[in-house]
Amino acid sequence: MQTEVIDIKTEYDRALEKSAEFLRHGEVVGIPTETVYGLAANTFDENAVKKIFLAKGRPADNPLIVHICDISGLSALVKEIPEKVKIMAKHFWPGPLTMIMKKSERISDTVSGGLDTVAVRMPKSEYARAIIKASGVPLAAPSANLSGSPSPTNAKYVFDDMNGRIPLIIDGGSCEIGVESTVISFAEDPPRLLRPGGVTLEEMTELIGEITVDKAVLDRLQEGAKAASPGMKYKHYAPRAEITLIKSDFENFKRLTESENGVTALCFDGEGERLHCPFVEYGDGNDGYSQSARLFDALRELDEMGAEKVYARCPDTSGMGLAVYNRLIRACGFKIRVL
Ligand code: AMP
Ligand code: MG
Repeated sequence: MQTEVIDIKTEYDRALEKSAEFLRHGEVVGIPTETVYGLAANTFDENAVKKIFLAKGRPADNPLIVHICDISGLSALVKEIPEKVKIMAKHFWPGPLTMIMKKSERISDTVSGGLDTVAVRMPKSEYARAIIKASGVPLAAPSANLSGSPSPTNAKYVFDDMNGRIPLIIDGGSCEIGVESTVISFAEDPPRLLRPGGVTLEEMTELIGEITVDKAVLDRLQEGAKAASPGMKYKHYAPRAEITLIKSDFENFKRLTESENGVTALCFDGEGERLHCPFVEYGDGNDGYSQSARLFDALRELDEMGAEKVYARCPDTSGMGLAVYNRLIRACGFKIRVL
């Protein structure tokens, strides 16, 4: 299959026409959003949705997020809309927030990974919403990477993973947030944070009060434990390099990188030039948003450099840092050293 890439910034009308045509005909299209690129198909066309799993090599029990362009699209997807969801939607939609509710009978087990719930998001990206609107249906979409690799934050990385697997990628430039959406479940009360992302725990707590933080957010899931968010149990975001997350200050980190051979550092902006080893920087050490915007690109850059042994600086876990930390501990397969 030939994979065409259309730049929506320069060919807006053609990008919308072509993506709508493919989506209506049961095909999968790579689309930009403000979080990461998505691999989209018509939510109500089970065969089309199955093609997403095939293209990614995604396990069938890992559910997809359904993307809508307008709040009126929500009621067809869910059994009922809890009050807290209405409050959250008013505040954070469109935005990097995915909310889980009991699913309606229109949501297939293929979309929900066999669960009785569905995850819904209204993206902030104007491009994403224009594509959803043009297709005329809600779009089921996970991240547009091969299963297990870092999520793609630009069209080139989607092409690297999906060339020959899907017919069309819409290029909307770099993703503003750079990590996947926050996932929070309203199928229970208090609601449960399953994955930290672009809307922070602090912001949500301020709005709706108590939120349970699922254990898988900060830790490895115990052997045999049931995952509330199936995506959290899989090895994720992993570059080929072996990464270890180092909890220490910069001086101890520097000493460690100098005590061994063949080390590549994954460090914060401005730190690299003070080290004596190859490095990739992943944002301002004091700014979680800057780190999230850089993290997945930095992981792919490590592979492009041929890095084998990587030591990574540890982010602060407050605010947006929680999402960065959550991705990093998975990228390093939970190998963490405290100095
Ligand atoms: P991705 O967009 O690739 O990050 O994948 C979607 C994420 O949303 C995965 O981590 C899923 O586990 C999570 N997800 C989607 N639907 C549900 C659901 N009904 N319950 C729990 N987690 C979900
Ligand atoms: Mg993903």
